[in-house]
Amino acid sequence: MRSIFYKPLISYIIGIFLLVIITGCVLSLLTSEYIILFSVLFVEFIILVLIMLHVFEKYMNPVKMATKTVNELVKGNYRARIHHPAVGSVGELNSKINILARNLSELAIQEQMQEKQLTTVIDNTQSGLVLLDEKGYIHLVNRKFISIFGKTSKDYIGYLYYDVLNNEQIHRTVQQTFLYEENVKESFTQMTDLDKKYIEIVGAPIFNERKLLKGAVLVFYDITELKKLEIMRKDFVANVSHELKTPITSIKGFAETLLDGAMEDDTAKEKFLRIIYEEGNRLQLLIEDLLTLSKLEKDEFRLNITEVKIEELLTDIIPIMKHQADKKHIHLSVIQDPGLLIRADEERLKQVFINLLVNALIYTSEGGEVTLSVNETDNHLHLSVEDTGIGIPEEAIPRIFERFYRVDKARSRNTGGTGLGLAIVKHIVEVHNGKITVESELNRGTTFHVYLPKN
Ligand code: ADP
Repeated sequence: MRSIFYKPLISYIIGIFLLVIITGCVLSLLTSEYIILFSVLFVEFIILVLIMLHVFEKYMNPVKMATKTVNELVKGNYRARIHHPAVGSVGELNSKINILARNLSELAIQEQMQEKQLTTVIDNTQSGLVLLDEKGYIHLVNRKFISIFGKTSKDYIGYLYYDVLNNEQIHRTVQQTFLYEENVKESFTQMTDLDKKYIEIVGAPIFNERKLLKGAVLVFYDITELKKLEIMRKDFVANVSHELKTPITSIKGFAETLLDGAMEDDTAKEKFLRIIYEEGNRLQLLIEDLLTLSKLEKDEFRLNITEVKIEELLTDIIPIMKHQADKKHIHLSVIQDPGLLIRADEERLKQVFINLLVNALIYTSEGGEVTLSVNETDNHLHLSVEDTGIGIPEEAIPRIFERFYRVDKARSRNTGGTGLGLAIVKHIVEVHNGKITVESELNRGTTFHVYLPKN
């Protein structure tokens, strides 16, 4: 850049000097008066100044502008441009600087976009992320991590992991990741304000191009839902085994007693055989209910939707229910709007009516009342089963739809209940996109409401 400016300037000055000497010599030949010499020198000085100004405007100014722009670019302001018109090498230099600035600006925009995308991905991953350097300082935490462990990112970034993460399992994972330089997996529980979370942590080492350990990434998976499902599955298997065990033990026990000689006693024989028959019945009911539930839960389960006439459906089931009610001297009344129609799976719908009515009859004492009402709203078919029975304690209401949940275990088993009736009802209502609610008062009675969309 120096040569661009100085070369023409030096040639200008040499030119002026030559001009001054030649003019002075010529004039001193003509006259020896000093005044003339000084006048000439003065004129030439003016010319020199004008030439200098011209040189400054043409070369010095654009170079100054270029230097200023380059300084801005160095500072990171990629929007800086040179707007000074210049020709020749300086002009070319300026236009190259502008191109460079434009390229830098595009690169910076791309980099910003990539950084934004990366931050969005990191912050929206459904796993907690922590980035550690080789000394154990935290460099990054994402949103999910904050939602699991609380506080803000400022409380973690820049600190040593063991100073801000008070969890033995995390410390062990980091230590083992650094020690063995391979992925390490652990799990632990984390208490939050509301409940307990099950967390799986994976520590993965980070290496540089020379395969030297540069830090680690910790990934935290919230496996609470999976754990809950696993617990539910285990509970279910335990419950089924328990439910099957009771009648089987009873059948086996009475059969053994008969074989051991009770056969000789006719009254005992009949009594034991009746028990075996009833227990067998219970087993059958339980297995049927389990099969129904498993069918309803299958992914490929499809409802057999047809137009169901409620009046006809009730004609099929009410006589059996009336018979049961009569045995307990319960007054069963049916109130239904005429001509009710619904698009539904008839067999499943029947099961909803039966299970709710059977429960109402079981949990209502002799002389009580059970009322079935069916009517329609604008979009829904509404059925309700109301009884004047034992009622359900308030704290038990949210649990009665769980499999095998019983308010009074002994009583329910004695009545032959499988503990699956309401779970099946809820499932059927839900696969029809309907809703079921309960109102109950202890020792006064219970009402179940079912709302099913008409189409
Ligand atoms: P179960 O075969 O034991 O009746 P359900 O799933 O049908 O199983 O019902 C679950 C529990 O809900 C019952 O054990 C009982 O405690 C309670 N329950 C259901 N219906 C009624 C009702 N109409 N009145 C009082 N309690 C009821």
